[in-house]
Amino acid sequence: MLVETLKHTAGDAPYSTFGTVLQIAKLIGARRATRLFLVVLLFSSVAQGQERYRVPWDKVANETIEHFQALLRIDTTNPPGNETLVAEHLKKILEREGIPAKLLALEPRRANLVARIRGNGSKRPILVMGHTDVVGVQRERWTVDPFGAVRKNGYIYGRGSADDKDNVVAGLMLMLLLKRHNVKLDRDVIFLAEAGEESFAAAGLKYVIERHWNEIDAEFAVAEGGGGSLRDGKAHYVRVGTTEKVGRGARLIARGTAGHGSIPRPDNAVVRLANAVAKLAAWTPPMRLNETTRTYFERLATISHPDAAARYKGIFDAGKRPEIERHFAQHELRHNSMIRTSINPTMLKAGFRSNVVPSEAEAYLDIRALPDEEMENFIERMREVIGDPNVEIKPASWREAARPSRLDTEMFRALEEAQKRVYPEAITLPYMLTGATDMTPLRARGVQAYGIGPLSEEGEYRDSGGAHGDDERILERALHDFVRLQWYAVLDVAASR
Ligand SMILES: [Zn+2]
Repeated sequence: MLVETLKHTAGDAPYSTFGTVLQIAKLIGARRATRLFLVVLLFSSVAQGQERYRVPWDKVANETIEHFQALLRIDTTNPPGNETLVAEHLKKILEREGIPAKLLALEPRRANLVARIRGNGSKRPILVMGHTDVVGVQRERWTVDPFGAVRKNGYIYGRGSADDKDNVVAGLMLMLLLKRHNVKLDRDVIFLAEAGEESFAAAGLKYVIERHWNEIDAEFAVAEGGGGSLRDGKAHYVRVGTTEKVGRGARLIARGTAGHGSIPRPDNAVVRLANAVAKLAAWTPPMRLNETTRTYFERLATISHPDAAARYKGIFDAGKRPEIERHFAQHELRHNSMIRTSINPTMLKAGFRSNVVPSEAEAYLDIRALPDEEMENFIERMREVIGDPNVEIKPASWREAARPSRLDTEMFRALEEAQKRVYPEAITLPYMLTGATDMTPLRARGVQAYGIGPLSEEGEYRDSGGAHGDDERILERALHDFVRLQWYAVLDVAASR
C-alpha cells in the first residue's frame, strides 16, 4: 500500500526525450539541439526529483520496526549511558550493507557512531543526527516493560521511543536506503548517533566537535527538536525546530545579619530573598520576536480557530499586545516563554536551624534567554527590578548561544516540500524550542540545523507517554511517515539532479 508507483524510473524520461531531441536536431541544428536537450533533461530530472527511486515502503516499514525494537531493547539509560552497545549494534548493520562506520569514543562505554556515504563533493555535507542515550525510568509507573519495545494499539512503547531512538532509526533507514538505491549524491550524507545528549556529557557531541570536527562538518544538519500534531489522525502541522532558548541560569544570594529566631530583624536574609523572588515573578521581561517566532505566529494564525487566530495576528499589533501577553501568561504558557527571556525560580536554600536567622539565603533561577539576549543588560534590569543591594545575582551554568537557523535555505525549503508530499493537508511551522538540544553547538559552528521528528496526536501526551514521560510511546504510522519525510528532504538537498 505504501509502495509509490512511479511513472518514470531514472532512465526513462531522458531516453525518450533523447529520441525527440534527435528529431529536432535535424530541424534546428546540432548545437542548439544540444542546448535544448540539456534544458529538457534538467527539467525532466527536476520534475522526477525524488521519485527516481522506487522505495518499497511496505518492506521498509517492517524493517524500521525491527530495527527500532532492537534499539529500544538496548538499555542506554543515562547515567551511565552504555551507548557503545547501540553504537556497535548500528555499526554491524551498516557495515553488513557496505557502509563504512566508526566509533568515536572518549570513554570506552560511551562511544558515538559516525557513518558517511560519499557524494561527488560539489556541495558541502548534510549531517543526520540522533542521540542514543535515554533518561531513566520509574518502572513501577509504567504499564509495560520500558525496555520491552511492546507494540500495542498502533503504538510502540519504550524509553527512547519518542526521544530519541526515533531519530536514530530514521537516520539508520536513510543510510540503508541511500546505499541500496545507489543514490548519486552531490553532498556527503553523514549519520551521527551521539552519546550523552541528555546530560550534555563530555563524551558526546562535545567530544566529537572538539576532536573529530572533520567527521561531522556539514552545511546542514537534521536532528531531534521537531515533530508536529495530528488531529483525529489527520496532520495539522509539522514543526521544524530552527532555534532554541539558551540556558542562562542565575543564583540570587541575599545577605543579612544572623541572629536569634526570637527577635525579628529588618535585615533578615530570608525575607530579602523572598521579596527579590516575588519582584522578579511579578516582572514581565519585554517581548521580542525573531524570524522564527514571527513566521510561527503568522502561520499558526492561518490554521487556528478564529479566537486563537486573532491572538496570533494581534501579537504584531502594539495596541492589542498587552492583553494577548496576559492571555499567554495564563493560558498559553509555552507561547509566553517563546516570546521573551523567562525567569523561573526552581530551588531555594536557606537556614539550618529553626531558631536561627541565617546570614545568607539563596534561590536558583532557571533563566532561558532568547538566542540574541544581551545578558549583561538583562541582569542589570533584574537588579533594578529587585532594587536591593543586599541581593547579589550570580550567573550559573550558562550554555553556549547560537544564531537561529535561517528559513531561506535549501534545507528548510526541502523540509517544507517533504511535508507537502507526506502531509499535503498540513503546513510547516518553524519553531523555537524553549528547552535545549545539541543543535545549538552545531549552529554556533555555522551549521544550519533543523529539528524534525514524528507527529503525535494532539493532547495525547498531556498525562503521560511523551518524551521523558511514563509509558513513552510513538505512533507506528507517524514513525513511518517520518522516515519518508526525512528521505524526501535529504534526497532533495543531496541527490544529484
Ligand atoms: Zn532528546
